[in-house]
Amino acid sequence: MEIPLPHYLSATLDRVREDTSGAVADYIPELAAADPDPLAVALCTATGHVYSAGDDGVEFSIQSIAKPFAYAVALQEVGVEKVLATVGMEPSGEAFNELSLDGGTHRPVNPMINAGAIAVSQLINGEDSTVDDRVELLRHYFSRLAGRDLRIDERVTGSELATADRNLALAHMLRSYGIIADTAEDAVAGYVRECSMLVTVKDLAVMGATLALGGRQPVTGDQVLDPRVCRQVQSVMASAGMYDGAGKWMAGVGIPAKSGVAGGLLGTLPGQLGIATFSPRLDGSGNSVRGAEVFRILSDDMGLHLMSALPSRGSAVRSIRSRGLATVIRLQGGLGFTGAEDFLSTVAAHELTTTRVVVDMRRVNDTNSFGRAMVLEGLRRIREDGHRVAVIDPDGLLGDRRLDDGTQVETSEDA
Ligand code: GLU
Repeated sequence: MEIPLPHYLSATLDRVREDTSGAVADYIPELAAADPDPLAVALCTATGHVYSAGDDGVEFSIQSIAKPFAYAVALQEVGVEKVLATVGMEPSGEAFNELSLDGGTHRPVNPMINAGAIAVSQLINGEDSTVDDRVELLRHYFSRLAGRDLRIDERVTGSELATADRNLALAHMLRSYGIIADTAEDAVAGYVRECSMLVTVKDLAVMGATLALGGRQPVTGDQVLDPRVCRQVQSVMASAGMYDGAGKWMAGVGIPAKSGVAGGLLGTLPGQLGIATFSPRLDGSGNSVRGAEVFRILSDDMGLHLMSALPSRGSAVRSIRSRGLATVIRLQGGLGFTGAEDFLSTVAAHELTTTRVVVDMRRVNDTNSFGRAMVLEGLRRIREDGHRVAVIDPDGLLGDRRLDDGTQVETSEDA
């Protein structure tokens, strides 16, 4: 069977292809000279399948899409507390190159604007790090996220550094407030080099999927980042990733995203997907015109909007039946709060008449700690009511099956 996704993605690109509105970024000479026509899209699923269409082999500089990943590396390397002391997490509602410092602390308001990203970059590899070592650590992380060795386009770096007055001004301000220790020149050199990392849409989709999937790169299986880091990064992306267009983007498209001035656009759908597009012409807010349009179409067609999550249909309790001396409760699907609540309320409403109660977990595909704790507490209470309890849990989804009273729920081979 041929999977119809690449065909669908191609057809989606065709729907926006004729739109030549917007303009390539002109404040960086190397970008001003770029071909404005390439158009590409890629998706990476939780199972590591990558689907793409259009100019999916064309490399372009990652630019501002480096910001969420550099933020992730800083969180991973130095911890949330130190990072939050340096940069806030409120949307600025302003353009990417505004100063946007917090009135009281002088911290940049978030890591998705340039001031914040320059400050974050300083945290990586320690304050005493050379620019080269700092950028190399980032390149190493970005490469693990992409699953291939990424390189830096020094021409883009040189071209941007030659016209970096604005970023230098931001760095001088940050330095004057003691937010960064490096010279303004070094701070900007490091930041601009990280923005010059070359990627394709496929790289970005896989990198985004890694954020969406709690830090586990779905193609290589490499656990690159902690789940909490990914949660933090995507939260900030959701509120501040699209600069002054962030609110409209969330309402219309509903996918945490980050754009770059070279024309890349990255989206992450928690637990599900990484999505990326590439098309260099930008709108007034600096976001790719056709890229944003492709996101809008995919979000609508595929039902990806975060706020339109379908109510989980059906219940976590597949069946509850008495067989001889045992009552067998078959569970299914994901067991988080909602699933566990369904288990508890179903059992509470059911009159248990048998001596044994067996919970069959074989059709459950995932749990979280809250769901596990609730199911285990339910089992403890069933036992307290005078029943013998056991679980069928060959994949160990309930963890160590330890109850609050220190005992362990026994396992059963069959019901
Ligand atoms: N390197 C670019 C700058 O700092 C990134 C901006 C962007 O992609 O939005 O100006």
